[in-house]
Amino acid sequence: MAQKRVVGNWKLNGSLAANEALLGALGAVAGVDVAVCVPFPYLAQAAARLRGVALGAQTVSEFQSGAYTGEVSAEMLADLGCRYAIVGHSERRTLFGEDDATVGRKAAAALRAGLMPIVCVGESLAEREAGRVAEVIGRQLDTVLAVIGAPALARVTVAYEPVWAIGTGRAASAQEAQAVHAGIRRWLGERGGAAAAAACVLYGGSVKADNAASLFAMPDIDGGLIGGASLAARDFMSICQAANGA
Ligand code: PEP
Repeated sequence: MAQKRVVGNWKLNGSLAANEALLGALGAVAGVDVAVCVPFPYLAQAAARLRGVALGAQTVSEFQSGAYTGEVSAEMLADLGCRYAIVGHSERRTLFGEDDATVGRKAAAALRAGLMPIVCVGESLAEREAGRVAEVIGRQLDTVLAVIGAPALARVTVAYEPVWAIGTGRAASAQEAQAVHAGIRRWLGERGGAAAAAACVLYGGSVKADNAASLFAMPDIDGGLIGGASLAARDFMSICQAANGA
């Protein structure tokens, strides 16, 4: 099983002043890879302040360099000390039109620069109610695989984030999440062999200090991708501690 990992996603939040307190209150937790994905303008501030906590970005360009105004490449993120780049977050898919193929190209760009992509997958409520969870997640993952190739799967973190659980306060139950994670683990093993089956599979969607332990206790849940609760240092560190105990 992969080492436990807890990754904060600040989304579009923060200021230089507010970040000082939050970053200063984060720290290493034994047995857990802790990381935060901050907005681009604050990567340098976070890199300078963090100790024992890895850095990531919330998205990345599929392009390396050139006439792509406003884009930020994976090489630039690596230059700033990032280890991770989230790709395919449902907010990027829904609000910014990123499709499965784009997500695949972004994952490939991250890998090219030596970053670990955190590939987000997950179904909408309508898709869950229609019994299409496995089909939707299989399609999302298959498209990424077609771009990056099977050997790269071992260098990917997958985040299962049911869209209906993100920012809603309604997390998947530990059993609901475990069932999907087991399917993702199976998919990884079938496509990429033993190394891929050992890849880290995170759960995201309304993880809080009070539900983290039960989620992380599940055999195929290797940690969490944390949105809202990563903005409060005490909550985020409690979630990291829950991963340590799991
Ligand atoms: C997220 O943004 O990836 C997320 C899981 O958000 P929240 O924890 O707020 O549901």
